[in-house]
Amino acid sequence: MPNPNGYILWEGPSPIDGAPIVCIATGFTESSGNGKTGSMIQTWILRTDIPPHHAYKSGEGISVCGGCWHFAQKTCYVLWYKAPLSVWQCYKRGNYAPLPDYALFSGRQLRIGSAGDPYCVPEPVWRSCLAHSDEHTGYTAQWRRPDAAPLRDFLQASCHGFRDYLEATTHGWNPYLVVPAGESLPEGVTLCPASTEAGHATTCSACHACDGSTGAYGIHAHGTAASRFALRN
Ligand code: SF4
Repeated sequence: MPNPNGYILWEGPSPIDGAPIVCIATGFTESSGNGKTGSMIQTWILRTDIPPHHAYKSGEGISVCGGCWHFAQKTCYVLWYKAPLSVWQCYKRGNYAPLPDYALFSGRQLRIGSAGDPYCVPEPVWRSCLAHSDEHTGYTAQWRRPDAAPLRDFLQASCHGFRDYLEATTHGWNPYLVVPAGESLPEGVTLCPASTEAGHATTCSACHACDGSTGAYGIHAHGTAASRFALRN
């Protein structure tokens, strides 16, 4: 019995290593429980052949994470054994049908890459979703790749530290910058209003500033990333 809450957007080889991957969109009938993002359609980019938490741990998740700093450091904020695993299990049971019509995104807000990097899904898939959806947010850690350049139109560059920030902005990206706890954000970078420091003033679904076109936003490192981050910078 197909689950009307989610659909398969795309299946194919990873552009990073050729492994089989899938992109599944969920939230069409049930709202996400993510307090930071609020109620948005979520998109999950996963290996088809390995449970996502195993892929993350073993390193085979590079097919969907590429050169993300958090993947290399094992400090990813995504809880791969939770929502991504539930979505993957539902997919493996055959409970998600292919998306019948991009019009299902009409009037909806879209989170591009709830898990996995949007770079791994062909750009036309995202553009078809965006042609119908209202606001969206999205980030890529693959912004150094020359063939990622068209994604500047609708994704922020995930930047970890000032060097990334300078390089990404030089190449025309709007960044989402993470700085070590206690450091100031550079001038012109707006503190994410959903951050702890901003008092969790809003959600991404209400803010939706990280759409690749609005400007530079930033946050302080938190969780397990914070200590590794201090060492890197
Ligand atoms: S700046 Fe807005 S859209 Fe971007 S992460 Fe923060 S709350 Fe979400």
